[in-house]
Order: sequence, then C-alpha cells, then structure tokens
Amino acid sequence: MPRPIHALIDFSALEHNLCIVRQHAQNARIMAVIKANAYGHGLLNTASALKSADAFAVLELDAAVRLREAGVDQPILLLEGFFSPADLAIITQYHLSTVIHHYEQLAMLPTSKQENKINIFLKINTGMNRLGFKPAQGLAALEKLKVNPLIGQITLMTHFASADDLSQQNEVKQQLNVFFTTFGKYHLPCSLANSAAILRYPETHADCVRPGIMLYGASPLIDKTATELGLRPVMTVSSQIIAIQHLGPRDKVGYGGQFQAQQPMRIGVVACGYADGYPRHAPTGTPILVNGQRTRIIGRISMDMLTVDLTGIENAQVGSPVILWGSELPIEEIASSAGTISYELFCALSSRVKTIIVTNENQQSRLTSLIP
Ligand SMILES: *Cc1c(COP(=O)(O)O)cnc(C)c1O
Repeated sequence: MPRPIHALIDFSALEHNLCIVRQHAQNARIMAVIKANAYGHGLLNTASALKSADAFAVLELDAAVRLREAGVDQPILLLEGFFSPADLAIITQYHLSTVIHHYEQLAMLPTSKQENKINIFLKINTGMNRLGFKPAQGLAALEKLKVNPLIGQITLMTHFASADDLSQQNEVKQQLNVFFTTFGKYHLPCSLANSAAILRYPETHADCVRPGIMLYGASPLIDKTATELGLRPVMTVSSQIIAIQHLGPRDKVGYGGQFQAQQPMRIGVVACGYADGYPRHAPTGTPILVNGQRTRIIGRISMDMLTVDLTGIENAQVGSPVILWGSELPIEEIASSAGTISYELFCALSSRVKTIIVTNENQQSRLTSLIP
C-alpha cells in the first residue's frame, strides 16, 4: 500500500465555485487563473473541470503548450508575457495571448510579417509597482501597438494591490481612477479584477475577470470565510495515523522536544510533514481532524511526520483517517495559524502527494471514508 497521504480534488466544487464567480460578474468573461499547477490542484484536471471558463491564465509557457496539446481551445494568457524572442514563435504557433508589461518586450516583437496575429494584454501599473507601464508610458506603448500589423486584439489590464482588505478601499478606488482616467477614452476591452475585487468591487468587473483563489474554494477576503462567500473547498489533504505513543508527565515530543506533556496522554503520529507541503511553522495548537474530530497538532512538524493530541479521541488507532485541511477544516485556519496565506499552502503541496479526483459519482464514498 502506498503511503496514505492524498490530496482529494473535488471537481464539483470547482464547477460550483466557477458558478459563484459568474453570479458576481454576470456580464464579464471569466479567465480562470490556473498558474502554479492550478494553485497545486493539477493543471490539466483543473482546466477540464473548468471547461466552461471563457479563457485561462498561466505564467509558464510550457503549461500553456500542455493545455493546447490537451485540446483546450479557449484563449490562454501568459501573465508575465514572454522572456525572449524565441518564446514569441511558440506563442504564435500555439495561438497564445500574452501580457506586454515593459519596453523590452515591445522591442522583442518581430518586425517581419507573420501568419497569425498575437492577441495581447497591455499591462498598466496603476500603483502596485510590480508589473506594467506607468500610465503615460502605457499610452505611448498603446499607440505603437495599435499600428503594429502583428498585433491582434488589445486588452488593457491592471492588477490591484489591496482588494482583499476593506480598510484599503481607497487604494483600490485610486488605482481604478488612474486606470480609467488615462484609458477610459479608448473603449478597448479591459481586465482588472482578481478574486477579491470580483467579490468586493463590482465596478472593477469590466470585460474580463481573473479569478484564482476563489475557484479553489478559499476566501480571498480578510474579513470573510469561504463558507460565508458560498465557496466550497476543492482540495482536501488527508492522511492516516501511522503510530500511537503514550506519554507520561514531562515526556517531550519530536525535534527540539518542543512539546512537553503535563499529564499522561495519548498522541498519534500522522504521515504528513513539511516535505509534503505542510507548513513547518504551524505551531502547537494548529487544528487538525482525526476520525472527523477536531484536535490539535503538538510539537514541531518533521519532514515526513507530525504529531497530534488524541485526548478525547479514544477510538483513534493506527489507520484512523486524518484531515490536514479541506472539507470540514478550512485551509485558512491552518494558514493563519502558521502565519501564512492559503495561496502559499496550496502551491507548496508537494508532487509526492498523489491527487485523487473526486467526481459527482464517487464523491460520497471518497469523502465519507475520511469521516467514519
Ligand atoms: C494570480 C493572479 C490573479 C488571480 O488572483 P487571485 O487573488 O488568486 O484571484 C489575477 N491576476 C493576476 C495578474 C495574477 O497574477
């Protein structure tokens, strides 16, 4: 039997969360962001579960090519654009769309006639100061691109720095204002909103929204849970108890002996560690489910194992199911306990954790096997 850790990927939750995006942004096209191996959920499977999305966005050229070769025929956008002139040949060959965010990319555009035009997203830096042309330079770039015979559809694009945080509403308004003041008059398609902006700022929806995290069922908002937003978790990471230890008073657990028992207690060793992507900084007290019952992690996370308090879970034994995050245990709780965000936990899921697709047909059996 293989090591008992798995990531269950619930296809119906992906479809459901896409519907939630549609409910919020009814008049916009939906570009599903599936960068970083679909936030750890698996690139091709996620794309197939989200086949009714209007477009996809990735960063990696090879991911875009894999999507095309798997038969995805929607537009596919490269969020950081191209890095060398050689990339452009592949972009043309596979009908990919690309972001253009700086002059060096403009200079790389071929000068000779090409068979296929390239659809581009011109990225404007409206205040985040990461990628994009400052508005005045963006105008100049736009004028150049408009007369370039190699360029097909031009979409204007920006990205918000703080749409997740209600106390920073003014920052979003400010970025929006910079964008439309400079580019409103062009009547070109626009794409502005990430998940947080989709949920919080309808005025940012424009022609095309770019949801990422909400598709995977985690909340993009600091002050609202996924459940409150009607989102369903897609990934459930499950494992099993592989050993039981009985501690006496003052016995210590794990590396550094960080946890010390105050009284006799039963603890379980779980096949999951930081090499699986569990955050090493999760402290004693981080929630975890054993046999469907909530308990806490104790001691330091090891590379391949972690230890849990079995006080009050008398029926727990070797082989008992454990949920690290997902169904019944929001990933946001683990993230905040470990001082990080759900995005990082999803992306850190290790390739040694096998994913199991849960479809409508096998859903009941899969999920209930974890919670007896
Ligand atoms: C990652 C990314 C998104 C998606 O962001 P979420 O917060 O996950 O919704 C949207 N747009 C751009 C440019 C991105 O890089």
